[in-house]
Amino acid sequence: MTYYRDLSKYVYSESMIPDLNVGWLSRWRPFTRGAVGSEFMEALASQVRVPRNQMRGSHPCYFCSTLRVGGVATSDQIFEVEFRLGSAEIHAISRNGEVFSAPNLIYHYIDRHGYRPPREFVQAIIDGGEGKVHNSAILRLRKMVEDAPRMEDRIDAAIDLIQVSPSSSVNWLSEIVELPSCNSYFRSRVKAALQLL
Ligand SMILES: [Zn+2]
Repeated sequence: MTYYRDLSKYVYSESMIPDLNVGWLSRWRPFTRGAVGSEFMEALASQVRVPRNQMRGSHPCYFCSTLRVGGVATSDQIFEVEFRLGSAEIHAISRNGEVFSAPNLIYHYIDRHGYRPPREFVQAIIDGGEGKVHNSAILRLRKMVEDAPRMEDRIDAAIDLIQVSPSSSVNWLSEIVELPSCNSYFRSRVKAALQLL
C-alpha cells in the first residue's frame, strides 16, 4: 500500500470526497505509537462496518510476518464479526468539515501494532454523529450524492451523510433507493448502510 504522511493531502484515488490522509502506514517508515481509548475504538469499529471507496484489489498488513505479492486481505475480528480489511477506506469528518480518509486496515494497525493516529482524527471519529459537523460539510455531501461523476463518490457521500446527519438524510436516501431508476449498486450499498442504523 502506498505510504502517505499523516494529515497530508489525500491523493490515493480519484475520489473527490477526502481532504486529508490518516493511517497510510509503511513498514519502511516509523509511526507514532500510543494508547487510544475504548470509546474511540468502538466508534472506529462502527466506521469499519460501512466501507468507503471499496476497491476490487486488497492489501495485506505489511507489519505482520507474511508479505506476499498480491497478498490476501487481512481479516480481523471486530466485536465478534469477521471483517475483511485492506480493500476499502473509512472517512471521519471534523467539526469544520474536513474529511479524513484512512485505509480500513487502520483498525488493525491500532489494535495489533500500537499505532496512534493524529488527535484531529481521533476527535473526529469520537464526535461522529448528529449535530457535530458544520452544515457546509453536510450540504457538500448532499450535492455529491446528487452530482458526483463517479458512482463510488455518490455512494461514499451517502454513507458519510448517514453517519454525520441521519436526521437530514435517512428519509431522503430511503426514498432515493426505492426509485425504479436508482442504480442497483448504489441501492445495495446505501441500503446496507441504512440497515446498520
Ligand atoms: Zn498486522
